[in-house]
Amino acid sequence: MFKRFYPDFNFDSISNIGADFFAVNGIHFAVLDIDNTLVSYKTEYADERAKSFLSMLSGNGIKYAFVSNNHKGRVEKFAREFDAAFVSNAGKPFTFGIRHAMAKMGAKSGETVLIGDQIFTDIYAGKRTGIKTVMVNPIDAKETPFFSVKRYFERIVLKDYKG
Ligand SMILES: [Mg+2]
Repeated sequence: MFKRFYPDFNFDSISNIGADFFAVNGIHFAVLDIDNTLVSYKTEYADERAKSFLSMLSGNGIKYAFVSNNHKGRVEKFAREFDAAFVSNAGKPFTFGIRHAMAKMGAKSGETVLIGDQIFTDIYAGKRTGIKTVMVNPIDAKETPFFSVKRYFERIVLKDYKG
């Protein structure tokens, strides 16, 4: 029923995504959401979890780029220490930010995965771009009223997905 929102894969956390996942699925490029996917939205720089995931990617020859709807200051500060492209104000669920990042990496759609924590922005954008999608649980859910409503609809879609 909500198929266009279904992620192709689901993991609890980026820590659970191993090198084998990329090898088995023929993935050489990753488009990464930052807030609540790699780190808490409250965390300015990559922590141990994020760093070990990113170095696992590099170590396995997987190129990555950060694609965030957040503003340039936040994204640039986070991305600075990595040798990776980034796109801020990416406008997910629109696809232009993802396409831009893919162009910067020279990525082919069949070999690219998006990893994010939100169905209606990350996953939907990835699916519209025609790349594979991985959903992880948000690291630190921001409990504003608007966010709660969004989460409520996400739960409905996920229930249908796991059905
Ligand atoms: Mg996020």
